This record gives sequence, C-alpha cells and structure tokens, in this order.
Amino acid sequence: MLFRHSGAKVQSVWRDWVAKCGNPTCSKKSWLQAFTHSHRGMRVEGEWYCDTNCFEQVVKGKIEELLASQNPPAKARGSRVPMGLLLLSRGILTSEQLKAALDYQRLNAVNFGDAVQQLGFATQEQVTAAVAAQWACPVFPLGDRPLDVKIRIPRQLLNLYKMLPVHYTENERRLLIGFVSGVQHQILSTIGHITSCTVVPCFITMREYESQLKSSLTPCPRDYELAVDEILESAEMARLTTNYVVQLGAERMRIGKCRDYVWTRIWGKKQEMDLLFRVGSD
Ligand SMILES: [Zn+2]
Repeated sequence: MLFRHSGAKVQSVWRDWVAKCGNPTCSKKSWLQAFTHSHRGMRVEGEWYCDTNCFEQVVKGKIEELLASQNPPAKARGSRVPMGLLLLSRGILTSEQLKAALDYQRLNAVNFGDAVQQLGFATQEQVTAAVAAQWACPVFPLGDRPLDVKIRIPRQLLNLYKMLPVHYTENERRLLIGFVSGVQHQILSTIGHITSCTVVPCFITMREYESQLKSSLTPCPRDYELAVDEILESAEMARLTTNYVVQLGAERMRIGKCRDYVWTRIWGKKQEMDLLFRVGSD
C-alpha cells in the first residue's frame, strides 16, 4: 500500500520534471530531448511549449478551428413586433402618424426609428425603449456619468457593433453591454470568453453612446489594440500573435472570434494587448 502510494508520487514528480510540450505534433518526442529542453521554452496558460515554433503551431491550430466554425445565424427581424405597432400600442404614435412615418421611411430610405424621430413623433428615449422591447432587453439609463467599468473592450469593436461596456459587478464578474440598435450575440459570447465575465445585453441611446465614446474617461484607449484589416492567412495571424506574446513576456493569452475579427488578447508583464485580425465574410 505504502509502496504503491509512493510509486504514484514518484511518477507525478517525474511527470513534472519531464515537461511535455503543449504542441501535440512536437517533433521532440522522447523524454530525454524534452528534458534537456525543459529549462528553455515558454509557458502560456499553464501549458509549457519547448520553443516558439511549437507555440505558434498550437495558436495556428486554434485560429483555424475558430475560422472553420460557422457564424450563428442572425435572429430574423421578422420574428419581432414591428416598432410602429409597439409605439402605437404605447400611445406614442397615432394611427395617422404611423402611416405618415411608414411613408416617410419608404421615401427617404431610413429605418423606422429614425423616421419617427425626424418627424418629431417620438423621442430618442422612446425609440430606444421600443428597440429594447423588441429584443426583450432592459434599457440602461447611462446619462453623462463617467463610465466606471474596469473591463476593456477594443475600440474597433465598440465602433463596429455600436456598443459600450456600461456596468460591471466585480464579485459576480457580471458585465453589462449596452447596444444602440441591436444585440450582436456572437460578440457577447466572445467578450465573455476573453474577459471571463458573464455578459448581459441591454440598450442605451445613440446620444449616450456617442458622448461616452468621445469622453476621454472611457476606459478603452486605442493604444492597447492593433487591428489588421487586410485578410491574413492563419499562419500569419499565428506568427504575429506569437511575436507579441514573446515581446510582451506574456504568460496568458486568449483567442476568440466575432463576426468580423479573430480577437487575441495577450496579457503581457507590463501591458495588455489586443490583436484583431479581419476575417472574410462567409
Ligand atoms: Zn515542442
């Protein structure tokens, strides 16, 4: 009994000594080679890689897996109550105004929410509340208060999806993301994966979104991100990512994908860095 117990212990110590490369196709297969290399290499996300090439191989594999995954279909707008009917049922529009707004929308090729605002039939707050009801989400009254959210999301994505991180509860790691015109579910799950937060959608007005985005207090400066809008091969994305991981001495990294980008977050010793690689539309 005692012997078996100590045997298992020796085995686990042995395993720790003979570090195995995190790249399953690593060519340095024998334990002796791995052992002689184990003082070198790199450790990322708790996994040890015998050299940067092995790490790059694994990153490339992960990127290819993400690229092969299909984007989830966007929810059909047809399944939602039309905004005109919503505003009518809330007593914001009369049936004459509804008809006039529909005509205006057709003639000017604008969306219905803009039409009723341009005609002066409804306020921005009323339109936002109606959009939120269409998506079955709450409205978050943001106002002009400075954003106090410690979770950083790349500016490029805030601009692209018209969204802002509006509230964060530290002990639950719960992050509220405010959208202006519609919820992008894929970016929500990617933000959840990259930031290890539970992410919940809500709605904010365009005015709030624009004024917060302009404010220098919004905690999402551009200095920490690099967006590559030229479409690269997965090998090139993996090479650039590996370069940054090495340069920043990072031991943590996450990769995700949203509709338009492969998003890599690298936690360096001194700073965090986001790399965004444009993906082709499928
Ligand atoms: Zn290796």
